[in-house]
Amino acid sequence: MRPLPHFLQSPLLRSVPGVYHAFGGVDPVEGRGHRERLAEAFSIPPEAVGALKQVHSADVLEFDLRDADVPGGWRREGDGLWTAAPGTGVGVRTADCVPILLAHREVPLVAAVHAGWRGLASGIVREAVRVLAERVGDRAVSGLVAAAGPCARACCYEVGEETAGALSALPGAVLRKGDEPGKWFADLQAIALSELAHAGMPPSGVESVGPCTVCSNRFHSYRREKSLTGRQFSLIYIYR
Ligand SMILES: [Zn+2]
Repeated sequence: MRPLPHFLQSPLLRSVPGVYHAFGGVDPVEGRGHRERLAEAFSIPPEAVGALKQVHSADVLEFDLRDADVPGGWRREGDGLWTAAPGTGVGVRTADCVPILLAHREVPLVAAVHAGWRGLASGIVREAVRVLAERVGDRAVSGLVAAAGPCARACCYEVGEETAGALSALPGAVLRKGDEPGKWFADLQAIALSELAHAGMPPSGVESVGPCTVCSNRFHSYRREKSLTGRQFSLIYIYR
């Protein structure tokens, strides 16, 4: 049997019945494709897991079969995808951006969000929670749980004035001054968690998972690898 790809799970999301999730990392098997990985590592049919063409937007869409790994799939643009149908799942590809996975404790409802600095600044996190709340009404916020996965953190993620300005406009975002003038360090995971809180989620419903992708060789990092080809896939799937 071939080794599994590296992945992490959130204890909080694991506590949600009927849902499987994984924050993906580096796959030690060179050349193993997305379809094989889902089937071999997670026993999940690739044609049942949707993903979008990510464009750093605040657009959150409902899963449609053409979002899956099927001929002509992965064409729709957006950065948040949700599904309420058992037997389907949603995922995001990231290198240093934040993968955020959400689920509802009482009803089948999951979402995957891709949140880089542009997405965070555009309000993708609050939009995702709003869309899910719209779906299940009053129960939504109290029953939702979310985990923000491995991404670029304040140890490594130095940004310039434009990014720092956009991020510091978010309530609760704290940036640390960099070594040079006009440079700042930002913790994208902490900002994502703060955004979840500002969207109305209680502290007991959110969790951070995993290390800084720039520091850890177990995860692809755009900053470290200087390549857009190496990205990890994080997914959440409703199996019943
Ligand atoms: Zn780091």
